[in-house]
Amino acid sequence: MYSKNEIIDILKDNTIDKEIFSLADSIRKKYVGDEVHLRGLIEFSNICKCNCKYCGLQFSNNKIERYRISPENIVLYAKKAVDMGYKTVVLQSGEDAFFKTEILCEIIEKIKNLGVALTLSIGERPYNDYKAFKQAGADRYLIRIETTDRNLYKSLHPNMSFENRLRCLDDLKNLGYEVGTGCLVGLPEQSLESLADDILFFKKIDADMIGIGPFIPHPQTPLANSQIGDFNLALKVMALTRIILKNINIPATTAMETLNPNGRIIALQSGANVVMPNVTTTEYRAKYEIYPGKICINENPEKCRNCIGAKIKSIGRTVSEDYGFRVR
Ligand code: SAH
Repeated sequence: MYSKNEIIDILKDNTIDKEIFSLADSIRKKYVGDEVHLRGLIEFSNICKCNCKYCGLQFSNNKIERYRISPENIVLYAKKAVDMGYKTVVLQSGEDAFFKTEILCEIIEKIKNLGVALTLSIGERPYNDYKAFKQAGADRYLIRIETTDRNLYKSLHPNMSFENRLRCLDDLKNLGYEVGTGCLVGLPEQSLESLADDILFFKKIDADMIGIGPFIPHPQTPLANSQIGDFNLALKVMALTRIILKNINIPATTAMETLNPNGRIIALQSGANVVMPNVTTTEYRAKYEIYPGKICINENPEKCRNCIGAKIKSIGRTVSEDYGFRVR
């Protein structure tokens, strides 16, 4: 186990990158094997009450066209994902008040009846909501801490609190969810020291999944003119997370592929073992613009499934046939 100072030294030293990526790859192989788990992602609403400064879906962005997929159609898209062979469906959205507890529970129950694992990624909710979603059948929950630097967190999230983010992660763990979190890499004013803290935080809370992506400035946000995150640094934070947390699930994130046309494959060879292809129909893809340059916005779900399947095969890995829960 590395100390904080050792992690910082590794992050600083570009001469050892290859070594770190190949160590992460071998630890991935040893602990979670060669199978890649696919999770079908449904981006069901881009309506959001939050104002996270980096995010294109923020409430104050009045230039994007908002949409909300109806509960019936969400279930329909989930069914299509299952028919395509997905063993996990991920429901992601902005913090959209339309989706009250009962509505979501009904969607969850219907999707669970299709025989898949279900992941939610819908932001901060009270304990009782998380409890109801779990009872309705949800298996996993993704909510990134974004950064563990409290001051930075505060400046990026108006009217939100770091404590509440922690409370969410704690509640989810206590309720028996598989908990996914993660961070952005390359935020303005973010230090290497705080990235080391992020990795140690993932270890401390014993997260089951970690998603790490480079920050990509969105033109309709206050961070429009900030510098873009560094692909290599994001990859290194991800690789170190694999080296330190060992048996967790780590997605090769879509944001990585935005910065490098081969980003997800490189990530799969540097510690990642999960990919989350988009199963939302083409009409909504461009509108779910968290950051600009999102990949595959003109593609359809079938094409994305085939494309990633072929890429995975080309590097000698296989698409998993099981639910892909964390291996212990
Ligand atoms: N509303 C949900 C889902 C958020 S979108 C929630 O709060 O959890 C999923 C992730 O996109 C966020 O957690 C954030 O880390 C990432 N993201 C947002 N804006 C981004 C940007 N400009 N560049 C890269 N990633 C971004």
